[in-house]
Amino acid sequence: MLLSDKYSFLINYFQNLVNNPNRAMFQSIVFYGNDLNTQYEIALYIARMLNCTNDKSFDCSCRNCDWIRNNEHPAVLTISHIDNKPLDDTSKTVISVKQAQMVKQLLLTSSEYYRVFIFCDKDNNGNVTGLNSINFQEKTANGLLKTIEEPPKNTLFFFLAQEKEDLLSTILSRSQCFYVPNFERESENYNMIKDIIEEYFLLNRRDAFTISQNLSDISDDKIKILDEIQCYILSLMKCNYNNKPFLARLMSDIKAVENAKSQIKAKVSPVNVFDNLCLAIIKN
Ligand SMILES: [Zn+2]
Repeated sequence: MLLSDKYSFLINYFQNLVNNPNRAMFQSIVFYGNDLNTQYEIALYIARMLNCTNDKSFDCSCRNCDWIRNNEHPAVLTISHIDNKPLDDTSKTVISVKQAQMVKQLLLTSSEYYRVFIFCDKDNNGNVTGLNSINFQEKTANGLLKTIEEPPKNTLFFFLAQEKEDLLSTILSRSQCFYVPNFERESENYNMIKDIIEEYFLLNRRDAFTISQNLSDISDDKIKILDEIQCYILSLMKCNYNNKPFLARLMSDIKAVENAKSQIKAKVSPVNVFDNLCLAIIKN
């Protein structure tokens, strides 16, 4: 499935933002979640929308879109411990203070482009991984705080991390944070759970334990049940991308489902996992 379909709730949200001339664009965005490569792809797509000279479509191949897709755009830079280091930078494992200075230096000159800086880490195979207090240290982040807060016009920062808590609070407080769910094992439908969980956001908390029991009883394949719950919440996200408070709630619910999956994989008792999940997502 195309990224633009799979993550349509996020993509549509940013498309609206980019296309509405009256709405102020954020200057700093934090993405967090387990699927870092997808976070990176979404950041690149937003960079493309901001620089596209054609129709801003997902498969546009104008010069700017092509450059960004191939990571060759002069104004869209990945900043990691291996990307875009100044020549005299001898640091090997971290995003260095010198890189932060380089970013600030670049912003002193004007640009015809919308400038986008994607801060992340990479593993030895070039896969995108998350920032944390070791690869993106306080002294480096501190050098950027003022710039993040009041950047020149047409500048956008991204910070990619696994957990929000991996980033300094000073970065978080200056950013809009978005959870990016992990859909690596996505279910195609939610037939098994439909009758139990449909419109769960209207259900009463006193029924949480019964619902938990009913869900858990559906199948021995607990992960499959959770995949279907995730699929259902995703379908809600897709038709509610304009309802920001509800979308935020769904995002936190989908994160609760991901946590439940990790717990099942860690052999936590399914009864406890489903009870905790239902208490987390049934709030009334
Ligand atoms: Zn384009």
